[in-house]
Amino acid sequence: EDVCQKECATVLELKVASMEDGMGNIVGHFINGQNVSGAGNRMQDVYNPATGEVTRQVALASKERVEEAIRAAEAAFPAWRNTSPAKRAQVFFKLKYLIEQHAEKIVGMIIDEHGKVYHDAMGELTRAIENVEFACGAPELLKGEHSKNVGTSIDSWSEFQPLGVTAGITPFNFPAMVPFWMWPLSVVVGNTFVLKPSERTPSASIFMAQLALEAGLPPGVLNVVNGDKEAVDTLLMDPRVQAVSFVGSTPVAEYIYATGTANGKRVQALGGAKNHAVVMPDADLDNAVSALMGAAYGSCGERCMAIPLVVAVGDETGDAVVARLKRQLEVMKIGPGVDNSNDMGPLVTKEHLAKVRRYVDFGVAEGAELLVDGRNIVIPEHEKGFFLGGCLFDKVTSEMTIYRDEIFGPVLGVVRVNSLQEAIDLINRHEYGNGTCIFTRDGESARYFTDTIKVGMVGVNVPLPVPVAYHSFGGWKRSLFGDLYAYGPDGVRFYTRRKTITQRWPSSSLREGAVFSFPSGV
Ligand code: NAD
Repeated sequence: EDVCQKECATVLELKVASMEDGMGNIVGHFINGQNVSGAGNRMQDVYNPATGEVTRQVALASKERVEEAIRAAEAAFPAWRNTSPAKRAQVFFKLKYLIEQHAEKIVGMIIDEHGKVYHDAMGELTRAIENVEFACGAPELLKGEHSKNVGTSIDSWSEFQPLGVTAGITPFNFPAMVPFWMWPLSVVVGNTFVLKPSERTPSASIFMAQLALEAGLPPGVLNVVNGDKEAVDTLLMDPRVQAVSFVGSTPVAEYIYATGTANGKRVQALGGAKNHAVVMPDADLDNAVSALMGAAYGSCGERCMAIPLVVAVGDETGDAVVARLKRQLEVMKIGPGVDNSNDMGPLVTKEHLAKVRRYVDFGVAEGAELLVDGRNIVIPEHEKGFFLGGCLFDKVTSEMTIYRDEIFGPVLGVVRVNSLQEAIDLINRHEYGNGTCIFTRDGESARYFTDTIKVGMVGVNVPLPVPVAYHSFGGWKRSLFGDLYAYGPDGVRFYTRRKTITQRWPSSSLREGAVFSFPSGV
C-alpha cells in the first residue's frame, strides 16, 4: 500500500490538474482513455437542485460518437481478455485507493448534481467501493469447475469466458454506486465496457473513469459516453455489443429488455419499485418508526429501495405509527446537501418536483388523509431550489394512484390492514416486487413473511435490505426484466459465458473402433 500511495500520489497531482481542465463547464465523454469534448453534440443543462441554477452542460452523444466508443472497446478487448485475472484485479486494488483519496471530490459532484445530503452521498460511495473490493477477487471468481474421469481417462471442466464489448445504462439517483454495480465486475472478468450514465448526474462517472485509467486500466477498456435515447439506442442496436445492463424506470427497462434481446444481446434491466414496510402490533415501534423515517425520506425518497408505503397491521398499530411519524417529521431537517446537518435535500429537477407535487394533489383528491403537507416549504437562501417537505398520508387504499404508482419523492403513505395475511396478499398483488420489510418481534411471523412474499429483497427489522456486494441485487415482477440479478455472483455469470470442455488423451497402445452408441460415463 505504501508503494501504491507514493506512486499514485505523484501521478495524481498531474492528473487532477488536467481533470479540472477536462471537466470545465461542459461534461463531455471519455473514450479510449481520453477526455472527448462535446463539440458538435447536442447539449443539455445540468442543474444544482439545491439552488435551481444551471451549473454546466452535458454533451449528448451522437450515434457516431457512441460508435467511436464501441470501436475503442472492441479494439481493447483481445489484449485485456488475455491479461491474467490477477493482473486485472491489481487495477482494482489501486482504484479502491484512488477513490478513497478522492472521496470528498466525488461526493461533492454527487451533491452538486443530485442534491442528496453529504453523509448519504458518502454512504453511496462506500457501496460503490464495496463493488471494487468484490472485483478484486476475480481470480477466485473465475476458477470454474473441474471433474476428473467423467468417462474412462476423460476429464471435463467448465470455464467462464468474457463476452466482449458490454454496456451499462444508469439512472440519476446513484451517480457513483449504480455504474459500479456494472463496469468493475464486467471489466475484471475480461470484458470491455461502454457506460452511458444519466444525463442529469453525469460528472462522477467521467471522473471515476479517469481514476480507473490512473489505476492502470488500459485505454479503451472502459469508455463513458454521456447522452440520451440516441446514445442508448445505438448501444442496443449495435451487433458488437454483447450484453447490456440497465437500471432505471420500468417503462424504459421494459423497452431496453425487448429491444436488446431482439437484437441478440444478453440483457438485465432493473426497473422501478413501490416498497411496502409491514409493521406488526408486536414491533419495537420507536425503532421501526426511526427506520421508516430514513427509508421513506432519505435521499428525498429517490431510491428504488425507499419505503413509500407502510402497512400497519391493526388500527392501534396504525395510530401509534402515524403519531410517531408526525413527531419525527416536525424535526426532520431539510436543506442543501452540502450542509452535513441536513437530513434531506431537494428533488433532482424542477420537472420531477412538479410531478411529485401533482401526486400529492392526487392523493388529496382521491380521499387519502394528508397529515403532513410539505408542499409549501421554503428554504431560506435557496428559494429557487427544488425542495419539497416530507409529506405523510394516512388511510391510503390500494385503488389510489398514490398507492399504485412509483412517486419517487418524499411522500409516505400508511395503509391499514387487519392481519399479516392481508398485508402479504396486498404486497403480492402489487405490480412491483423490488424490496420489502417487516417489523416484528415474532420469529414465526417473520419466517412466514420472508417465505411467502413475492419480492426479491426482503428485510426483517431492516428497512433497506440492499444486498452487499458479494450477494446480488434484483427485484421480482416488473422490477426486473431478465434472469440474473445485478453484481455479486449473478453479475459474474451475467458477464461471462460458460464453456465446457471434455478432453481425452488417447494412449498410443490403445486402439478403439468406431462407437455408435451415445456416450455415457457409466
Ligand atoms: P430513467 O428510466 O428515466 O433513466 C434511466 C436511464 O435510461 C438514463 O441513463 C436515461 O438516459 C435512459 N433513458 C431514459 N429514457 C429513455 C428512453 N426513452 N429510451 C432509452 N433510454 C432512456 O430513470 P431515472 O429517472 O434516471 O431513475 C429513476 C428510476 O430508476 C426509478 O424508477 C427507480 O426506481 C429506478 N431505479 C431502479 C433501481 C433498481 O435497482 N431496480 C435502482 C435505482 C433506480
